[in-house]
Amino acid sequence: SHKSSAEIRQEFFDFFKKKEHLHVPSAPVVPQNDPTLLFTNAGMNQFKPIFMGEQPGYKEDGEIWQRAVDTQRCIRVSGKHNDLEEVGHDTYHHTLFEMLGNWSFGDYFKREAIRWAWELLVDEWGLEPDRLYATVFKGDESDGTPVDQESIELWKEETSINPDHILKFDKTDNFWEMGSTGPCGPCSEVHVDIRPDEERQKLDGAELVNMDDPRVMEIWNLVFIQFNRQADGSLEKLPAQHVDTGMGFERICAVLQDKKSNYDTDLFEPLLSKIGELADVTYGQDEETDIAMRVIADHIRAVSFSIADGASPGNDGRGYVVRRILRRAIRYGWDKLDLKEPFFHKLVPTLAKQFEEVFPVLIQQEDYVENVVRSEEKSFLNTLGQGIELFNEMIEGKDEISGEDAFKLHDTYGFPIDLTQLMARERGVDVDEEGFNKRMQEQKERARAAGQFDVDQSGNADWITVTETDEFQFFGYDSISVQSRIK
Ligand code: ATP
Ligand code: MG
Ligand code: MG
Ligand code: MG
Repeated sequence: SHKSSAEIRQEFFDFFKKKEHLHVPSAPVVPQNDPTLLFTNAGMNQFKPIFMGEQPGYKEDGEIWQRAVDTQRCIRVSGKHNDLEEVGHDTYHHTLFEMLGNWSFGDYFKREAIRWAWELLVDEWGLEPDRLYATVFKGDESDGTPVDQESIELWKEETSINPDHILKFDKTDNFWEMGSTGPCGPCSEVHVDIRPDEERQKLDGAELVNMDDPRVMEIWNLVFIQFNRQADGSLEKLPAQHVDTGMGFERICAVLQDKKSNYDTDLFEPLLSKIGELADVTYGQDEETDIAMRVIADHIRAVSFSIADGASPGNDGRGYVVRRILRRAIRYGWDKLDLKEPFFHKLVPTLAKQFEEVFPVLIQQEDYVENVVRSEEKSFLNTLGQGIELFNEMIEGKDEISGEDAFKLHDTYGFPIDLTQLMARERGVDVDEEGFNKRMQEQKERARAAGQFDVDQSGNADWITVTETDEFQFFGYDSISVQSRIK
């Protein structure tokens, strides 16, 4: 029989505790003291001051630790990391997921990080070396960022990996930067091939190494923070070098529990069976139904923890993002599972119980969270039916929804543009996104005329720098703007 997810998480902590790491708590999904970041989207967020050199290490009881281990609840629905559209349709991207991490704050570096990753995966957890791949940074001539030759050598020296399984990739996947300047460095990622033996046996060498197959799944990113990028683009060596790793917990559970999908693990099973009960359906019988069930099982996690961590559904900033996730789930329930009455809040107790030990913040506020979800879904359900009716009238005899109509659905019926697009896609019609954006822009200008300006946060960096922020204001659906008042 397989290990439970609780055992797997604990074994991760224990493994690194034996290597003198301090077990530290997850930060909330709503970042504390960081107005430039919408949601915690990686384990490293809470350690930013350490990587910036503002703090010597992790402080606990007056002691400074150079090594830490944790699980961080992360949300990736905006900015650089926006996985929302994938969620439910694939089986390994979530809106909220746990990122397991081991950390070196100016202590050990690449050698130990690589050795221990292998030791945990292969010696402790028994993964087949032949199914593992390591990616490394190949360098970038355009700006002189060097190839990470060191990691290539270390994978060969420290592990029994097949040297043909060490693959070089470019910046998109294998170089991490906090922004256009500041701490940065190459990363090395571990991927696991979960294709069945029968299929693998039919493939030869080159064919076998297929990183484009979703079943060759990225599970662990080892980031080596070694440079400080200057304003002129050049790289300086950091005085202290750090290791930041992130392992997708739901993914490693799927691998170790021998499942093809994260949703088949014990992490999602309780939610899926509760949804099955509420909608009188069974998971695994019909793909459309399954997608809806996955969306709902996934989204209740992001919505519940956001509320518990202090971001309730609302009209702007984080609140709007939470609202949008909730509405996506409700709409799938309404349309695909015939759930026309409030149901989403009924999943909160299942989730709270499940995370009682790991993230007690939810069970502590179970009633509150359930109430917030209930009243939010109730008010959306009131307009959803009318909105869908209007939508159907709008597309009759047309192959495109005008910008004006999309804006009306948003403005009057609370349809986020991605909801309209999703419904349009399903019915084979287009959406005039440009026209919609134009109307959103006009609305923005009206706000600006009222004495405000905004800074776009949709760029490719984890953080943006804003100097005079005082609040978040929602202005667009794909990008969240940080609004500052002109003082
Ligand atoms: P992917 O390429 O699969 O989108 P990523 O490269 O964006 O992942 P990283 O930023 O490297 O992810 O994060 C570290 C690890 O977190 C990944 O190796 C993966 O296992 C996990 N992870 C990332 N995004 C998600 C997500 N949306 N849901 C679940 N796990 C995720
Ligand atoms: Mg990603
Ligand atoms: Mg990736
Ligand atoms: Mg990655």
